[in-house]
Amino acid sequence: MPERRIALVTGGNRGIGLEACRQLAQLDIRVILGARDPAKGQAAAGELRTAGLNVDARHLDVASIQSIRECMNWLRNEVGRIDILVNNAAIMPEDADDDLEELEIIRETMQTNVYGALLLSRMAIPIMKSRRYGRIVNLSSSMAVLSEMGAGYIAYRLSKTGVNVMTRVVAAETEGMGILVNSMDPGWVQTSMGGSRAPRSLAEGADTITWLATLPDSGPTGLFFRDRKPIPW
Ligand code: NAP
Repeated sequence: MPERRIALVTGGNRGIGLEACRQLAQLDIRVILGARDPAKGQAAAGELRTAGLNVDARHLDVASIQSIRECMNWLRNEVGRIDILVNNAAIMPEDADDDLEELEIIRETMQTNVYGALLLSRMAIPIMKSRRYGRIVNLSSSMAVLSEMGAGYIAYRLSKTGVNVMTRVVAAETEGMGILVNSMDPGWVQTSMGGSRAPRSLAEGADTITWLATLPDSGPTGLFFRDRKPIPW
């Protein structure tokens, strides 16, 4: 295993992503906190640095191919490695009133929640492969579980089901390369997305992310987890 691992967390400026940055940095991992708003990214990284943690902010808008390329090229050329990728950034829009508006919302949600995460994974894998070490954690949701699929939030449900497909495909393609790729559901967590009625703390929500991000080489790949336990798709 590499000495000081480098982790990139998307949407790291608040919510579960920020807590994942904190937990990973507490394990002596160098964390790159990705944020689409550079000022918010700097403020969040500054807060963690004040607590003595090794965290740097980097501009990363996961809905922008150019932004993803810039961030990953910087990691490859200047940092030289990426050991952990946490695909956390996401949006959960309300349902539309109009059919065409619905399609537009689905496109936008897929771009942010799935296509960005896929391109980041595609660009991270060759760097991980060169060191035979990588952990990719994809933030999914109970709203992607097919056997529990209900009404509403079609864009979000489609996107998180897509995240799970991505996990399976990328895990299969990286089998035997030292790269472990898993989906996880943080549960219902108190964030701006989860709302104030959510029963879970940020620490509880991020715990399985940190666990999957630091799995031993013999750890699982291509599975879906909640509370460190596999759950059905
Ligand atoms: P949140 O509080 O709404 O935070 C979302 C984060 O994603 C923010 O940092 C936001 O940045 C960022 N983001 C959105 N679009 C982005 C883009 N285009 N580029 C870069 N960053 C972007 O959400 P959360 O509750 O922490 O959720 C984190 C993850 O857990 C998500 O994948 C979510 O689907 C999943 N999840 C959450 C819950 C829950 O109960 N909270 C349950 C199941 C799954 P800005 O600050 O710039 O908006």
